[in-house]
Amino acid sequence: MVKRVLVTGSSRGIGKAVALKLASSGYDIAVHCRGGREAAEQVKDEIQAMGREAVVLQFDVADRQAAKDIIEADMEANGVYFGVVCNAGITRDNAFPAMTDDEWDSVIHTNLDGLYNVLKPIIMPLVRARKGGRIVTMSSISGLAGNRGQANYSATKAAITGVTKTLALELGKRGITVNCVAPGVIETDMIDDVFEKEIKAMIPLRRFGKAEEVANLVDFLVSDGAAYITRQVISVNGGML
Ligand code: NDP
Repeated sequence: MVKRVLVTGSSRGIGKAVALKLASSGYDIAVHCRGGREAAEQVKDEIQAMGREAVVLQFDVADRQAAKDIIEADMEANGVYFGVVCNAGITRDNAFPAMTDDEWDSVIHTNLDGLYNVLKPIIMPLVRARKGGRIVTMSSISGLAGNRGQANYSATKAAITGVTKTLALELGKRGITVNCVAPGVIETDMIDDVFEKEIKAMIPLRRFGKAEEVANLVDFLVSDGAAYITRQVISVNGGML
């Protein structure tokens, strides 16, 4: 039976590249978006054109009930996931003294609560399926090193590494690996290139990364070849750290 993987935030950017790469490796995919339904449907069409199954799930990861209801309905209709890539995330940057309550709260609710809201309904069915599994979370160089203007974001991205390591400990004996990918600066909608020159100067490889270069690592972590890798935080950052 073909293994299914849910990729949150796969309507565009890194998540889209991950969904397409995993589909090309032979997985069926649950594509996911919040508002970008049309883009998500296009990703679904591309996956189906590769001969793989795909569905689109649409919910705000910060909405616990919606996440539970929609994920449970999808698992009921199409089967339990073998893997989940928790990729959906946002930034709301501001220097800490100027940061608004809403900027703080929305990033915590989306990036951190969103991880809990997605994983909670998935993990027990994954354990009960007794077939092992793969969980990949998405941190950031900002979570490892901090970054000016990103106190909210870096808090969530550091927390995600902690959740990852704890779940790896809890789920290891079930053959479920849990790893975290920490990208540097990747060319997507999230990046504004105001300081492009200055940022590139801090990157030993002297360029931004491509979403596909993050997807290659996620694809490997989901593969059988990565069965003995768990509890790791792996960077894709051109040598920035
Ligand atoms: P994009 O902004 O390009 O895409 C974000 C994706 O997440 C979209 O699919 C979006 O859906 C979805 N999403 C955002 N908020 C929500 C929400 N509340 N509920 C459900 N889905 C949501 O981001 P990137 O591809 O750049 O980033 C992907 C991940 O990688 C993030 O976790 C980010 O923190 C991390 N990362 C990115 C880096 C970069 O340089 N780009 C660097 C380090 C880490 P929709 O289209 O419907 O809005």
